[in-house]
Amino acid sequence: MTWHFETDPEFQKQLDWIDDFVREEIEPLDFIITSPYDLTDPVRNEIIKPLQQQVQERELWACHLGPDLGGPGYGQVKLALMNEILGRARCAPTVFGTQAPDTGNSEILAHFGTPEQKEQFLEPLLRNEIVSCYSMTEPQGGADPKVFQTTAIQDGDEWIISGEKWFSSNARYSTFLIVMVVTDPDNPPYQQQSMFLVPTDTSGVEIVRNVGLGYESETDDHGSHAYVRYNNVRVPKENLLGPRGGGFIVAQTRLGGGRIHHAMRTSGRVQRIFDMMCERAISRTTQGELLSKKQMVQEMIADSWLEMEMFRLFVLRTAWRIDKYQDYKKVRKDISGVKAAMPGVYRNIATRALQIHGSLGVSWEMPFTREVMESFHMGLADGPTEVHKVQVARRVLDDYVPCDDLFPSSHLPKKREAALTKYADVLERHLETQ
Ligand SMILES: Cc1cc2nc3c(=O)[nH]c(=O)nc-3n(C[C@H](O)[C@H](O)[C@H](O)COP(=O)(O)OP(=O)(O)OC[C@H]3O[C@@H](n4cnc5c(N)ncnc54)[C@H](O)[C@@H]3O)c2cc1C
Repeated sequence: MTWHFETDPEFQKQLDWIDDFVREEIEPLDFIITSPYDLTDPVRNEIIKPLQQQVQERELWACHLGPDLGGPGYGQVKLALMNEILGRARCAPTVFGTQAPDTGNSEILAHFGTPEQKEQFLEPLLRNEIVSCYSMTEPQGGADPKVFQTTAIQDGDEWIISGEKWFSSNARYSTFLIVMVVTDPDNPPYQQQSMFLVPTDTSGVEIVRNVGLGYESETDDHGSHAYVRYNNVRVPKENLLGPRGGGFIVAQTRLGGGRIHHAMRTSGRVQRIFDMMCERAISRTTQGELLSKKQMVQEMIADSWLEMEMFRLFVLRTAWRIDKYQDYKKVRKDISGVKAAMPGVYRNIATRALQIHGSLGVSWEMPFTREVMESFHMGLADGPTEVHKVQVARRVLDDYVPCDDLFPSSHLPKKREAALTKYADVLERHLETQ
């Protein structure tokens, strides 16, 4: 049995390099690059491309991919340790070739794509020469994909896509969109939809508006979550991705890895917020003593550390289980659990850090309001927390069997009676000698 919590020294050297590199070269970029996804931004390209080159030379590029796709094929545990460092800086995943949603999109292209689709879409995506978008959620419903209304109708050698999608992140920067649409309305609910690859410049693809998050300024036009309308968009039949009616299967393949990678990065992000909270607690004085001397502040630090450590270990154990079983289905409960736990831990720690910083904490001179909002992002993107909790509960309950007796199997009188029966001989002998 192996059960240890150590990183092998060779890989630790890589992690140390990544840590310095992210701190020195990438963290400052968050102040000067508007979006790491905007390939038309000359500042972004001048700075990011040489950094990506360094990462490639170090053989740390796209570490989520196997050697067949140009990655080193690191397992999820190594990836988790790397990703928690990358989580510290917004541009870091792009510099290391592991940015969402391109990671998930490349996963499904690698899994389901035809050789031609891989050549046209996957290869340039893996080199970050293009950016992709995953266009699934609709204005009338996201958590329940069964209510999607965007359709595709076959017309000779083409499909015609019509409908609307909501919160399609990075559509404005993308070269292609992966769109989930109803192709077979008469099939059972989970076999009605299919995935299509749609080049973003196809006639009829209309970005109605780019929506930003609450902390972003509407006037800056930096919103990156698009409301997209598909006005009779024609794509060749070769652009069907995966089996017809297999949209749900493709979507599941995409989300397995993506969810755990978000959690790994969140672990690093939370550590950074926690560091800020601790620094403030031992630096700021009120009523003649440091904040860190106040018991309620101590409670905030202790609770935050406990939540952070428990979450980190949960993420790492889930990563370890993915590596061990090599089958996402066997680890679904863990992945949903990590996904469900993530926003709460993030939000609690960001909120406490904000509070400890007082008025400075709510101001735009510290990152906490953004971090609190981001914690809500983590509780929505890739499915709301509630839906994941339902998954966890279902899978937990699968391991139990009902008790057909009127009283539960652990009813104490029943257990006592069983114990008395089991040890009746011994008890009888001792009674006789008394
Ligand atoms: C920052 C960000 C980026 C995103 N990027 C993308 C993207 O690139 N592509 C894409 O397709 N989508 C994207 N999404 C959309 C995301 O997938 C949806 O927000 C999510 O699926 C929830 O759908 P909804 O927003 O329509 O909420 P609804 O489906 O309206 O749900 C609203 C709320 O209802 C509750 N609820 C829902 N279902 C249940 C349930 N079963 N039990 C109990 N309560 C429930 C939850 O509290 C939930 O938050 C993104 C979202 C965010 C926030």
